[in-house]
Amino acid sequence: MSASDTNQKRKTWLTKDKRPIVIAGPCSAETEEQVMETGKRIAQTGKVDIFRAGIWKPRTRPGTFEGVGVKGLPWLQKVKESTGMPLTVEVAKASHVELCLEFGIDILWIGARTSVNPFVVQEIADAVRGVDIPILVKNPINPDLALWMGAMERFMAVGIKELGAIHRGFSNLGETYYRNRPHWQIALDFKRQMPDIPLINDPSHICGRRDILQDVGQKAMDLDFDGLMIESHIDPDNAWSDAKQQITPEVLGQMITDMILREDYENEPELQSPIESFRQEINLIDDELINLLSNRMTVARQIGAYKKKNNMTILQQKRWNDIIEKSKKQAAKSGLSEQFIMSFIKAIHNESIDQQEKVYKSE
Ligand code: PEP
Ligand code: MN
Repeated sequence: MSASDTNQKRKTWLTKDKRPIVIAGPCSAETEEQVMETGKRIAQTGKVDIFRAGIWKPRTRPGTFEGVGVKGLPWLQKVKESTGMPLTVEVAKASHVELCLEFGIDILWIGARTSVNPFVVQEIADAVRGVDIPILVKNPINPDLALWMGAMERFMAVGIKELGAIHRGFSNLGETYYRNRPHWQIALDFKRQMPDIPLINDPSHICGRRDILQDVGQKAMDLDFDGLMIESHIDPDNAWSDAKQQITPEVLGQMITDMILREDYENEPELQSPIESFRQEINLIDDELINLLSNRMTVARQIGAYKKKNNMTILQQKRWNDIIEKSKKQAAKSGLSEQFIMSFIKAIHNESIDQQEKVYKSE
């Protein structure tokens, strides 16, 4: 199919006008029957806009299932023919792009292990230059907003107009609750910096397990995400990849039905004005917090000058241990989570060290 053919008649799928955009399908295409049956049952839910399936699978270690490859593309075409759902497939190199275009794949997605690599993203961008095809870009596996945005910019630069971002969480040493830690703030920073690109949450790869998918998906909706990508398989326990996180099409349908969809109502003054006075109060408290922090740093610099004069290290381990212990106790009493208090106090401590270092370096 030529670029101009696709230009003519295609629909816009990655849009802020339809919320939530739901993308679902198996982690991997395994057999023709599995793909067809999943497609049929997903379409029956009436809740899914776009059908996904991995054809080439970037597994972390070799020796696991690495995807069926090109022979799976005609299976996807059949799903589209019988259900009308547009298709999305992960591409990780230029040859994948060519095959997807040849087999009428509607939307390409860039996986987390690819968006991490500017060389590969550029290779894929060059392969879609002049083609009107929507592209979804997953966040890179490491928590780096610039890399994610950089991948978007590479596609914009070759003329791609319809882009979507997928937040799938970030690798983290020792994480146990999530498979990939969400770091929601990075997704929100993305949304702030690239507000026109629909932001889609992928609870499947964040959670790595079924029991918390609904919670994470709901949180994304409450953070005003535009859509969800969820892995669904007819026989999740026996899936060839990502078995623990997949759900049946029927469970998926129920999950979307149960999502509570709230709106931001940012342009409705009668809804916004009652919270205005609370917001003013919060602004005053924030001002106070910043003033207090600034006062704290003034004291830290005075201590820094004393330590420097007496040839003492900036870090005094015993004192720092005491602060941590004291803060933990205060967290319990104040109803704030220990995790929050710890990251807060560590951020303050880091700044305090930086300020003292400046004192050490000054004449
Ligand atoms: C996937 O969607 O199946 C996949 C491999 O995802 P990620 O790139 O997020 O790991
Ligand atoms: Mn997967």
